[in-house]
Formats: sequence, structure tokens, C-alpha cells
Amino acid sequence: CRALLADVVAPADVTWRTPDSPSSSLFDGAAGRGADPGGQAADAAPSVPVPAAFLALCESAILHRDPDRFGLLYRLLWRLREEPALRHDPLDPDRLKAEHLAQSVRRDMHKMKAFVRFRPIVDHAGGAFATVPAEARHVAWFEPEHHIVEAVAPFFARRFTQMRWAILTPECSVRWDGGQLEFGPGAGRDDAPPADAGEHLWLTYYENIFNPARLKLATMQREMPRRYWAGLPEARLIAPLAGTAAQRSLQMIATGPSEPTHRRPKAATPTAPDQAHPSSERPLTLADLGQAVDRCRECPIGAHATQGVAGNGPVRGARLMFVGEQPGDQEDLRGQPFVGPAGRLLDHAFAQLGWRRDTVYVTNAVKHFKFELRGKRRIHKTPAQQEAAACLHWLESEIELVQPEALVALGATAARQLMGRTVPVMRERGHWLERDDGLRVLITLHPSALLRGDPAEKDAAFAAWLSDLRLADCYFR
Ligand code: URA
Repeated sequence: CRALLADVVAPADVTWRTPDSPSSSLFDGAAGRGADPGGQAADAAPSVPVPAAFLALCESAILHRDPDRFGLLYRLLWRLREEPALRHDPLDPDRLKAEHLAQSVRRDMHKMKAFVRFRPIVDHAGGAFATVPAEARHVAWFEPEHHIVEAVAPFFARRFTQMRWAILTPECSVRWDGGQLEFGPGAGRDDAPPADAGEHLWLTYYENIFNPARLKLATMQREMPRRYWAGLPEARLIAPLAGTAAQRSLQMIATGPSEPTHRRPKAATPTAPDQAHPSSERPLTLADLGQAVDRCRECPIGAHATQGVAGNGPVRGARLMFVGEQPGDQEDLRGQPFVGPAGRLLDHAFAQLGWRRDTVYVTNAVKHFKFELRGKRRIHKTPAQQEAAACLHWLESEIELVQPEALVALGATAARQLMGRTVPVMRERGHWLERDDGLRVLITLHPSALLRGDPAEKDAAFAAWLSDLRLADCYFR
């Protein structure tokens, strides 16, 4: 590509050939630039500056099976040089097509990481495993959609460093000898060993982690398409497990819930719900409040979280109090508000505004992390109004103890909690509202809303957020 660009060869004047291009036989043996890919001409050509994101896009898209990928990527490279506005146009059809190819390749790589199943070799002396390298003790068969084997192989080398293994695919094979990866020709499905004796352990495990109440067949088939089932020993359990799922769910409901397991041991003498801090008693210090929040079971969320997360910052001296929604996954584990991705964005905003975070008090409307489990991941769930209402007195206690001059509501939950009514955040953002007790509340977005937003609008959204926050600048002077 560098050589072509140096010679100012327009994309329309280049024909790209790959072994699977429909027209490849027409040009086989023809002399031309294509006969020297990456050769001397390319080495001598000047390098071409491109955005880092374009390079990352090419690295994935080029592995796609689509024979037009080289033409598309060269056209994009050419256009990046000729049309500087292209890098700011996320809806450009060529860009969209390349993104689509890259996404499909990334999905295929993900599937390979998830669905390769190694089987130990019992007898590899000739016969069915003649093409399997003798020292490969575990062999897997996989059929990727794209040319991804070389890109994914280092993942398996890292994951199974101690094992000697080979992965066979129709297009190429790769083996790991404990020190380096070696690539070879493709193989057939029969070159991989059949099910082994140890497989029943894996099937028992699969049977045990299968949760009948969470069965969603359509989603399951989307995530684990049928074309991979042949290589997945657990696939044969899907039909029988799915068949009995409804009945097993009913049994689970009849049995009732078991006690949740906590990541951190709870206090030695857990407080019964009726002994939890009664809302009528106000803690006298923030330290008392922190402990009472941790014990609080006035709504169901507390029983599942790792710990309660009260606010932090100076007591009496913080002129501003920032209020978010509820602790996230990292806040729940560390016991501090706004220390995860949303907190980092808040820190970035503070840095841009020249504010110091340690001069303000930062807290949340709800003090425990509400989540649902998806596999091992804990996914944030918005607290219900009743749950937020049960937590209100903790926030009001913090306001009483800290006595800030003003408040900043980050998002709708905080705004409702502080104002005692629903606040249309998009309409009221960038405005000061007044509470019944006279305290002013600046309404703005929650940082997570910016993190979830359209990446193309990111800079503008951040700038607008800074303009909202800047209204509180007088409290830092
Ligand atoms: N989101 C919040 O609202 N609060 C936190 O502490 C973290 C994420």
C-alpha cells in the first residue's frame, strides 16, 4: 500500500487477488505489483501517517474472509490522505463496512477463545492421528469463519502455557511445544481425537452450573451457534437440560432462596433486620454513619452487596457535596464512592476545571450496590424508588453532618432524592434548583451517562457536562 500511495495509484486502478477471489485464476501468474506484496517496493516507500484507530481497525478487518477487504482498506487509506474530514465521519459507508468486517472478526476470535475444547491424545501412533504432531498431548478441532488462527494462537499459548497442545482447523493448524508456536497446514475433523474418558468431569460441571431458571434458548443459540456444537461436548446436554428446565425452576421456587455468599466476611454478629439502624436515630459522626450504613437492611439491596458505601470528603469544610446514584462494582468492593470508571471521569472533569476532589464531599443517593449476576459479572441495576426512599435518611444525615453550602445532583436518582420529586434532568441540567431547606442543587448528568453515550458525540457531551459543572466554580474560589 505504501508503494502504491507513493506512485499515486488510485484505488480504482488496483486489482487485489487472494486465493479465494472468484477471479484469481484469470490473473494467475500475471506479472504486476501484486506479485511483490510487502516486497522491496514497499520497503522503499515512505511511511504513511494514519490514526492509531485506523491501524487497529485494519488489523481486525484484514483477517475477514471477504475477498474485497484489501480493496476496501486501501481505498480507506487513500481517502484518509485525500479527505481529512473522513476521520470525523463515523457514518461513511467505507468506514462502516470496515467496522462491520472488524466486528465480525472480533466475534469469531471471541468464539474461538470460548469454544475450543482440547482432548487428550491416548494413542497417537499413526492411524487416525497421523497428522497430529507426536508431542502434542491435547488436540482440539475448530472451524473458524475467518483467518484468525494466527491472531488467536498467542491467547492459547498464554492460557495453556504448561500444556503441549495443537489446534486443527480446515485452513491451518497450530501447535505449542511449551516454548513457541508453530503453524502448519490445515487438517480434517477426523484428525482430532474423539471424546475422552475425562470428559464426564466437564459434563458434570456443565450440568451443575446450568441454571434452569435462566434458560433463554434464543440467546443461547445466538451466543453458541449450532455450527460450533459438534466440537462442544456439553452441546449434547442442551436438549435434556432444556427439556427439564421448567420443572426444575418450579422446584427451585418451592425450595426457597439460599443465603447469599459474600465476597468479604460479614461482621461476626450480624445485625437482624429489626436491629438495623432505625431511621429515627441520626448518627452523630460520619464514622458512625458509615458503620450504620454497612449494617442497614431497610431495603433488600444491602443483603447482597459486599458492604455499604457512605460518602467521603472533609466534614464541615466541604462547601460542595456531589451526589451520585449508588456505588458500582468497584465501589462496592473498595468501600469508597466514585472510584471506578464513572469516578475516573469525574476526576478528569475536576482536573479540567482546576478543582480538587479532596475539598468536596462525594456520596451517593443509595448506599449499597444493586446488581444482577450475568455469569460471573455483576451488572448494575437502577435502584427502585422504594429502595432509594429507604436510603434517603442516610443522605440527609450526611448533609446535616457535613453542612455543605450547595449540592450537585449527578443524574436522575440523585436529583429525585435531593429534591423530593422527579426532576427532568435533560431539561433542568445546568440549572440551580432550590430545596425546601434553602440549599441550592445544581442538576447535571451522571458521568455513566457520558460513558454509555455515542462515542462520536463523546467530546461534545463532555464539554457540555463541564459547562454544567462550571456553574459551581464559585464554591472553589
Ligand atoms: N456511580 C455512582 O453513582 N456512584 C458511584 O460511587 C459509582 C458509580
